[in-house]
Amino acid sequence: MKRKIRLQTKIGITLLISAVAMVALVYLFQIRLLEPMYEANKIKTVRLAADQIEQAMSDGTTAEEVYNVSMQNDLCVRVISDSGEDYTAGNMGCKLYHMDSVQLLEQIYNAQVNDNEYLDTVTDNDGDGPDAVTGVRSIILTRILEVNGTQSVLMVYANVTPVDATVSTLKTQLWYVALIIAALMVAVTVYMTKFIARPLNRITAAAKTLPEGRYEEATGTNEYAEAQDLNQTLAQAAVDIQKADKAKRDLIGNVSHDLRTPLTMISGYAELMQDFPDQNNQENLQTIIDESHRLTVLVNDLLDLSKLQGSQIELKYSDFDLDRMLQDELRKYEVYVAKEGFQITYQGCEGLQVHADEERIKQVFNNFMTNAINYSGKARQIEVRLSREGQMAHVEVQDHGEGIPEDKLKDIWDRYYKVDTTHVRAVQGSGIGLSIVKEILSLHQVPYGVRSKVNEGSTFWFELPLTGQKEAGSK
Ligand code: ADP
Repeated sequence: MKRKIRLQTKIGITLLISAVAMVALVYLFQIRLLEPMYEANKIKTVRLAADQIEQAMSDGTTAEEVYNVSMQNDLCVRVISDSGEDYTAGNMGCKLYHMDSVQLLEQIYNAQVNDNEYLDTVTDNDGDGPDAVTGVRSIILTRILEVNGTQSVLMVYANVTPVDATVSTLKTQLWYVALIIAALMVAVTVYMTKFIARPLNRITAAAKTLPEGRYEEATGTNEYAEAQDLNQTLAQAAVDIQKADKAKRDLIGNVSHDLRTPLTMISGYAELMQDFPDQNNQENLQTIIDESHRLTVLVNDLLDLSKLQGSQIELKYSDFDLDRMLQDELRKYEVYVAKEGFQITYQGCEGLQVHADEERIKQVFNNFMTNAINYSGKARQIEVRLSREGQMAHVEVQDHGEGIPEDKLKDIWDRYYKVDTTHVRAVQGSGIGLSIVKEILSLHQVPYGVRSKVNEGSTFWFELPLTGQKEAGSK
């Protein structure tokens, strides 16, 4: 796997990007956009002042308002009317005092052709401005008004104070800000790395013993919730590894035990027949054949289970008549009825079409049947029932044998994988039949189970979806 960058580097880079973005934002607003925003604000103030004076003109309080507005907003205002009135207020040096008639008429003309309002932006390069300073920018708003039948010209002048000096101050400041941010960034990176990465590094070092099923939390690793969770997960993983390891050892022990018994029998009988020719009889030969058969069943079942558990088996779904399938399978057991006095009854339900893997379902049913026969004891009575339960077909196999103690019920489905110190070889069969059943039915994603009472018998059951009901496990 490609090695990812270290947490420290990642935090550093993230912070660096954020810091650059922050400085860029400060630069954009404080330096680049300062002048245009300042000017836009001035234009707004000028327009508002003009509105206020316009209102005052219709109220007949022009002179006071011209004075007030100019004072409050640091503006220069002039109102000239047809009737000969001429009010000017504000900075005495402002351009409105010094305008000659040509300049005045130029402003009025521009207003007339622009819907009676003209906003002029002037850069004073000839030094005749308010303070006779060249390069000063100013705005002049000229409005032509008709108030109470009198034509008037309203002019509002504002100085757009040069912001160059401010910008240069801010630029210097920005360097300091950038330096402070850089220092902060380094400090935060070091702190975050220490706080986040160090516990993780310690946990990684402590987890090196995990493959052996051991995990001991290193000190100082529970500094935050995520690290604590990780510690707990790893501690749990260690416990699980130990369990899995034990289960594996148990499995090997149990399988070896089950393999050894028929092998001992086979070699024992073969040697007996070799050493004592008179023992070379049909009965001993049959024992060897039976035990070899038993070995084959065990090995096949083990292979089957490992394939099922490793998901190497894909179910082959088809629609089939479950009633007919059960009747066909039950024929195999007629020999037990005839030879061993078993009483096997079947209560069917005609025409129940189900959707499942037929061969695998046969395997499930035969496992239930074999167990019912093996564990029937003296009551050699087995009942097989098929019924419809809503959208499912329900199959059950009931025996009246020894039953299963309540506390063992959950263990029987994965017997080899349980702590089973009392493992004894099954009457017949591999000892993993129900584990295979569990895998097959789980793959089908259908319900199954067992009801059992000691000395009264057991009822094993499973359900399958009727045709037309989409199978849960199929792809
Ligand atoms: P086995 O080959 O040992 O029968 P299974 O996996 O088929 O292996 O069954 C697991 C265990 O469940 C059996 O060993 C037995 O103890 C118990 N068991 C299964 N079916 C029955 C049954 N019908 N009656 C009583 N016990 C049963």
